[in-house]
Amino acid sequence: MKPLNADLHCHSTVSDGLLAPAEVVRRAKDNGVELLALTDHDELGGLVEARATADEVGLRFVDGVEISISWGDDQTVHILGLGVDPGNAELQKGLHQVRSGRDSRAGRMAAELDKVGIHGAYEGALRHAGNPALVSRSHFARYIVEQGHARDVKSVFDHWLAKGKPGYVEHSWATLEDALRWIVGAGGTAVIAHPGRYRLTKAERKDLFGAFKDLGGRGIEVLSGSQKDDETREFSRSAREFGFLASRGSDFHGPGESWIDLGRLPDLSEDLIPVWSQL
Ligand code: AMP
Ligand code: MN
Ligand code: MN
Ligand code: MN
Repeated sequence: MKPLNADLHCHSTVSDGLLAPAEVVRRAKDNGVELLALTDHDELGGLVEARATADEVGLRFVDGVEISISWGDDQTVHILGLGVDPGNAELQKGLHQVRSGRDSRAGRMAAELDKVGIHGAYEGALRHAGNPALVSRSHFARYIVEQGHARDVKSVFDHWLAKGKPGYVEHSWATLEDALRWIVGAGGTAVIAHPGRYRLTKAERKDLFGAFKDLGGRGIEVLSGSQKDDETREFSRSAREFGFLASRGSDFHGPGESWIDLGRLPDLSEDLIPVWSQL
């Protein structure tokens, strides 16, 4: 049987994506996606438009969100909530609280960038984000490229925005406990996003997976747009070992800015249980 072309991780202009929710859905449909989740960072605001468009073009749609959490020694980890009820008051309140920290963080980032010769970054990033509660490093990166300091967004991260670089500031997001409580409370399935993107040792990664599972976490993204084949094999093994459901998501942010386009990931190993079998 042909595997389902599911893409359960992507972004719209409601967080740091470049396309409006309706455009994301249309592009997914054009790319052959058969099941799509929109997972904006700490935001549910794009889901109504995305679902309406999905109904219009005949694409199965899952309400999603990607929650930023702090873990261990200033590590940021992203937890996906798939199939959440966007009307759930606790989830809405929790996400509002997470977003409310972004504006002051942006101010601190801009102050650090100013010291290394990148001026006006707060206003510049805000112009790209459109809303102080949504300002992300991606919006800073777009401004820095626009100012001619770097060739593309990826090199901005390498030089200025990744942990340890001049424009990176520490920040407290939600806790793992919060994220799981909000997702599970809203009827969703919690999935660890892009497990290869965190600077964790193998032992620390196991600790994270164990803690996540103990709190009711169900899945990991075995296939992510940003990872290599050996990582896919490793996370397939982790899914077996921890009994996790396996997810597949491009983490698409927009044309020209993403690792991979919507719906263009390889298939999951056949012995894994796809998270969409439970949604
Ligand atoms: P923030 O939530 O403000 O810390 O921004 C994180 C976002 O930056 C991620 O969701 C990605 O969209 C983007 N990002 C992080 N690392 C990179 C990278 N190395 N290259 C391009 N984009 C990145
Ligand atoms: Mn992003
Ligand atoms: Mn992420
Ligand atoms: Mn993402």
